[in-house]
Amino acid sequence: MDADGSWKRPVREVTTSAGISQIILTQRLREIVIARDPETLCDDCGIEMITASRSEFDQNRRSAAFTRLVCKECRSAKEEAEKLAAAERQQRLVDEINARFGYRDLDPLEIEQLSLREVVTLLALFRNPIDENYTCSIPLDSWSGSIFSARPEDGRSRLTELWNSGKIYVHPSTPPKAFGWVANSEGDEQPGIYVDRVRWTARGQGPTGSVNATLVKGIKGALTRPWPDSWQMQWASEWDRVMLEEALAYLELCMEEYNFEFSPGDRTRNVLAEALESFALGAVYNFIWRATKDSAAYFQRGGVTRKQAANSTVGRIERSVEYALAQKWDVKIYRRDRRLPWSAVSTTLFTTVLGVGDAMTARPDDVPLDDSEDLDWEPDAADHEVADTADDEREQQ
Ligand SMILES: [Zn+2]
Repeated sequence: MDADGSWKRPVREVTTSAGISQIILTQRLREIVIARDPETLCDDCGIEMITASRSEFDQNRRSAAFTRLVCKECRSAKEEAEKLAAAERQQRLVDEINARFGYRDLDPLEIEQLSLREVVTLLALFRNPIDENYTCSIPLDSWSGSIFSARPEDGRSRLTELWNSGKIYVHPSTPPKAFGWVANSEGDEQPGIYVDRVRWTARGQGPTGSVNATLVKGIKGALTRPWPDSWQMQWASEWDRVMLEEALAYLELCMEEYNFEFSPGDRTRNVLAEALESFALGAVYNFIWRATKDSAAYFQRGGVTRKQAANSTVGRIERSVEYALAQKWDVKIYRRDRRLPWSAVSTTLFTTVLGVGDAMTARPDDVPLDDSEDLDWEPDAADHEVADTADDEREQQ
């Protein structure tokens, strides 16, 4: 090299005089020589940078002018240290989570003290356990072929409610990806969980498998006996909530089909809840399907944005419900959409708990337990004669 930093001889001249190719030359040099450039030092260890080629040499010199130079050894040492720190941080997180929220030997749940909503969630969660031994629940994000709740939001909030009130706990076999650090209001990092990645177990003493199996059995038993007064009071509002989730899920599905961006707000909820007060879910499907189809046609005709067309859907549903009520229409009941299977929560509430045959056509009046609080209630035996007899007896008393 010259004093001004330019190369004395081009590479071609060297290879020609030696009678070898450039590739061979580079290979040989790498084997026999380590070239260090005294002008470029590693910013971490202060040792001269190794240069394996002219282009690397030039690049190091250019880079040194505006950025930190770090040698290979320092770089891999740093990566190793970072990996170790990340692993330690993750382990600390898992330890803290287990210490704070982990499964402990606590008194088992008293089924009759639970709300009907909690009963539905617990039964839907643990009747499909991760294994035959009821060891823990399947994480919500790992359900396949079936779904836990009509909409993921509802599933997450149901489990959060149970977790916050100390009724379910994080099972130790929960995968690390379920844990994360969350900044609190003061900016301090706190251990947190992703609710839908956790494997849950119910509260109770001893091995989790027998705790969860006993809970499922206990809930099923409690449902066949006369219900606690609180459940009698609660089932109708739980019906409304789950039906609304079902209607919202179908609306989201239809909107997605037409590539309408949509996230339901209060108005949508109010309109669908009002529709469900007068019509069965299958009829509300009808309103939703027609309204989204008409919104898509509205957009196709032009003159409105896709967003405006999407936003017109809820108004359409509201008007057609009002019109159907005013005209006393017999609204055609739609069948279940194959793309939207019944969720575990819906099946548990409508079939197992309320004994309804087809929740697409059912109305709250169809619930067999309505007038039979003094009877042993069997989910599959909606026997009106028995109910009539009980009413007669009550009148005689
Ligand atoms: Zn270095």
